[in-house]
Amino acid sequence: MSYVFTPAPVVSVPVVGRAERFPARRIYCVGRNYVEHAKEMGFTGREPPFFFLKPTDALVVVPEGETGTMAYPSLTKDFHHEIELVAAIGTGGKNIKAADAKKHIFGYAVGLDMTRRDLQGDMKKQGRPWCIGKAFDQSAPIGPIVPAAQAGDIENAEISLQVNGQDRQRSTVAKLIWNIAETIEHLSAAWELQPGDLIYTGTPEGVAAVVSGDTLVGRVAGLPELRVKVA
Ligand code: MN
Repeated sequence: MSYVFTPAPVVSVPVVGRAERFPARRIYCVGRNYVEHAKEMGFTGREPPFFFLKPTDALVVVPEGETGTMAYPSLTKDFHHEIELVAAIGTGGKNIKAADAKKHIFGYAVGLDMTRRDLQGDMKKQGRPWCIGKAFDQSAPIGPIVPAAQAGDIENAEISLQVNGQDRQRSTVAKLIWNIAETIEHLSAAWELQPGDLIYTGTPEGVAAVVSGDTLVGRVAGLPELRVKVA
């Protein structure tokens, strides 16, 4: 096979305890999936889950024990953090029932759904797609993936984000409006999931802006922390 130019490399994420890496295929994100975050964004009530995507090359892959770097993005004056639990799909499928969803999960990681909130807000007002607010370069930092069997009680894990050592977000995965299995049921009704898909499951309350020089530390109990600096 030859190409008219060199193809982009496969984007992959390290796996804790394994030499092999997890090759990423798609990044699905769930919107407004914690009650208190939905409220801070101006919504109440249990609406069906909705999804958006980020390009796989938006991942900022941060190895365990290291501090990653993400650029302060263009066009925004309101660059927000959203700490999220990420589920990594190991076995694909469509119309997966929630009761069967666990079998499809390879493992879990800590992720950040970075957001140009001002641009997202403009697009919402105009009824336009969120891509410019959500799917920009380096918008998806991620830490190493822990195989599901070693991730502990992830359904009830504490999730938190500190910026420069100060708490910004703190909640528990138990407060997801649509839990991981239900999310996979809804998602796989709309798209056929494939190995390599990553699902950013939503953020709890406390989203706010960061600026150049800030260091973000995201944690989900049972997983390696994710440490990223804004360049
Ligand atoms: Mn999010």
